[in-house]
Order: sequence, then structure tokens, then C-alpha cells
Amino acid sequence: MAYVDEVLEKVKAKNADQPEFIQAVTEVLNSLRPVVDANEAQYRKLAILERITEPDRQIMFRVPWLDDNGNVQVNRGYRVQFNNSIGPYKGGIRLHPSVNLSIIKFLGFEQVFKNSLTTLPIGGGKGGSDFDPKGKSDNEIMKFCQSFMTELQKYIGADTDVPAGDIGTGAREIGFMFGQYKRIRDLYEGVLTGKGLTYGGSLARTEATGYGLLYLTEEMVKCHGDKMEGKIVAISGSGNVATYAAQKAQQLGAKVVTVSDSTGWIYDPEGIDVDLLKEVKEVKRARLTEYAAARKSAEYHEKKNGEHGVWQYKVDIALPCATQNELDIEDAKMLVANGVKYVAEGANMPTTIEATEYFQKNNVPFVGGKAANAGGVATSALEMSQNSERLSWSFEEVDSKLKGIMVGIYHAIDDAAKKYGMEGNYVAGANIAGFEKVVNAMIAQGVC
Ligand code: NDP
Repeated sequence: MAYVDEVLEKVKAKNADQPEFIQAVTEVLNSLRPVVDANEAQYRKLAILERITEPDRQIMFRVPWLDDNGNVQVNRGYRVQFNNSIGPYKGGIRLHPSVNLSIIKFLGFEQVFKNSLTTLPIGGGKGGSDFDPKGKSDNEIMKFCQSFMTELQKYIGADTDVPAGDIGTGAREIGFMFGQYKRIRDLYEGVLTGKGLTYGGSLARTEATGYGLLYLTEEMVKCHGDKMEGKIVAISGSGNVATYAAQKAQQLGAKVVTVSDSTGWIYDPEGIDVDLLKEVKEVKRARLTEYAAARKSAEYHEKKNGEHGVWQYKVDIALPCATQNELDIEDAKMLVANGVKYVAEGANMPTTIEATEYFQKNNVPFVGGKAANAGGVATSALEMSQNSERLSWSFEEVDSKLKGIMVGIYHAIDDAAKKYGMEGNYVAGANIAGFEKVVNAMIAQGVC
């Protein structure tokens, strides 16, 4: 049996109750076949695939906190430190009721390759909790974050593991967590990224993932002899990634016609008003119905099962920026039938494996999140550099480094795909380019 199949069987058997983790490992290992086949004897002897699919450690802990009514609430906290061969563990903290070990492991696994692709010295990890920040007061959010960090601080540090934001964890939560870390450890260090600008945060970090997605998309479009100007774009989500993706897309001359949240979506044929979106989502923390109420050209649609949501419109570019598995095979068929020309993932694993394959079979250039949304973590690594130097760079300096990194990632994944005879397969290209660097470091560092 091929080494990849052997390891896939072991991973499935060992992690049978973790579908998202199995999905991520299956996708990555399948696309690595050409590299693994070329090095099979060495990788098998060194158990490279067994080691790279097993996290260095998985930490699970109780997070008790006091709500505003004086009742004790209990959530479960996670930190999965996946691989630190090329640098300290780095990856966000997700606060969402759907969080479980499978989701954190899939995200941590993907993060290893994504971080490697950035060309910066960062390993892969991920954390989170099944805590639901929706409807909680600032005081409750603070109590939760303090309790979460009281345990997490034992395992992290500026040179060990540097968490960041993710779904449900923005500047407010990072601030509360940083405060608690400092209080317990008495260390003022870059232990978290996504910090506020007055205490070590980096300019352009807020915009980085969405902007980075567009820098990479623009390069892909250019390399296909095409241009961003005049393109019609569908975006899902209306959080951090979606908002700044929409902003940069419009700055580049495209028109974004959709955004969504977990309850519904907006279709705005005149183009999303990003300032209004920010007002509704970032300031008022309200639902998209408020966007529709304030804008004549916008239609609001409630999410119903089996509907295509934002993927039903005739667009040139689709950018899923909400959550995992939000674009399935039926959505992909609809997009292709409507003539979509490019797809790039702002979220982590938003496209199912079948949908990804459908785009590839229909020759729609498709870049997965590992490469396309790496701008966030790349800028987090730039925040770490600024913290170490005790300096702050200007917005332009960070933004131009970000652009350089994203353009570089596009070419790295394009070259890797070509090198292994899979021209245009950017998913394989990203996995291969990220994997080779990590594996070389693992081999150099011996059995550990
Ligand atoms: P936010 O919490 O800011 O926004 C998430 C958005 O997705 C919200 O609009 C949310 O709607 C929507 N959403 C969440 N769950 C669902 C669902 N089940 N169905 C439909 N919509 C849903 O998160 P981010 O923008 O930071 O992250 C989005 C994605 O990008 C995630 O996959 C994240 O891992 C990934 N990512 C983020 C990075 C970053 O720098 N922020 C970096 C790299 C990847 P609602 O408000 O209703 O919950």
C-alpha cells in the first residue's frame, strides 16, 4: 500500500470522531502524493507523515467564569500545539459554540503549512473554546477571557507559542487576554498578536487577511492575462476577513455584490457600501438586516437550508470568507454555470473537497485558504518582529511587506505545482511548498 494511504488509514482509525481533522489531513496528504512518492523510502523510515499528522501536544482545560447574574458558567478551552519545526507555535483563538477538538486540530494542522508558506519563522498551532461571545456583556467577555488566560498562560510565551485572533476573538478579547497574561507572568512581551495599537499592535493587522486575499487574487488574475477592474465579486461572511476583502476589492476597481452572516445574506447589485457594513457590524455589532434597512439597493435574504445564498449570483470571482464547509458541490455547480472565473478562500476550508475538485475539473483557478488567507498570520509575524525590536512600522511599510509576501506566495505555489507536473493546481502547490520547508527542518532536527 502507498505510504500516503497507509498513514491516512492510521489517522482515520486513531481520530475516528474528528471529521474536520480527517478531512483536512485527507486533502493535504492526497495532494502531497507526488512529493511523498519521490521520497517514499526516506519519509517512511523517518515516519515523516505519522509525525506531521500528530500534534506536539493537545491541551484541554476547564474555563469557569462568573456571569452577570452571579452564576458560574463552565466552558472548555483548547490549545493544540501542532508543529514548531520552523518557529514558535502561531495560530488564532476561536471562540464559537461549534468549537471542538476536531475543529481546533484541523485548523492547527492547516496552520503548519500556511505559516511555512509565509516564508516567516513561525510554527503551527490553534486554540479556542466553545464559549459563545454573542449576547455577552463586556464584563462577561472579560471574565471569560481572564479565566481562559489563567490556564493558557502556562503553555505560551513570546518564544514558545503566540496566539492571535480568529472567529469571535477580536481586539477586545485579545486586550483582556493580554492584560491577564501580563498580570500573572509579569512579562511585557509579544505573547499575543492582534493587540491594540497603543500596546504593541501592528498597523494593518486588522486589514491584513482581507487585503492579503485580494493581493494574491490580483496577482493570480494578472498572471492569467486579466485584470481586477470591473470584476463582479461574491463574498460570504461580514466579519474581519470579509469586510477588508470587500474594501480592497473595491479599491482595486472590482464590485462586491454580496456579504452574509450566520442568519442571512445581502445582495447589493450596486456594490456593498463598506463604510455602512463596518458601522453595522463593527460599531453596532448588529445583524445584516440593519444594513438592508439603511440601503435602498440592498436585498436581505434569510438563510434557509439547501439554498445557495451568496453563491447563486452571476459573478466573476467568489471569495468565501465566513467559515468551514460553507461552499458545497451544489454551490460550486451554480457558480460554474454562472461563469465564475476565479475562486480564492478567505476563510479556512470553506470549500468542501468535492466543490474544490469541481472547480479544478472545470478549469476555474482555485486558491485554498492556506495560501490565500495567509496575510493575517504573516502580518501577525510582522507584529512579533516589531515587538522584538520594540519599534512600530508605518501602515505603508507593513502593507507593502504584506503585498510582497502575498505575491511571493502566489508564485511559490504556482512554481511548486509546475515542478511536480500539476500546473494550475494551486491547492497541491500550496501544500507542497509549505510541506517541503517543514519536512526539511524536521529531518535536520532529528527524531523529535
Ligand atoms: P469573524 O468572527 O470576524 O467573522 C466571521 C463571519 O462568518 C461572520 O460574518 C459570521 O456571521 C460568519 N459565520 C460564522 N459562522 C457561520 C456559519 N455557520 N454560516 C454562515 N456564516 C457564518 O471571523 P473572521 O472574519 O476573523 O474569520 C472568518 C474566517 O477566516 C474563519 O474561517 C477564520 O478561521 C479565517 N481566518 C481569519 C483570519 C483573521 O485574520 N481574522 C486569518 C486567517 C483565516 P455571524 O456574525 O452571524 O456569526
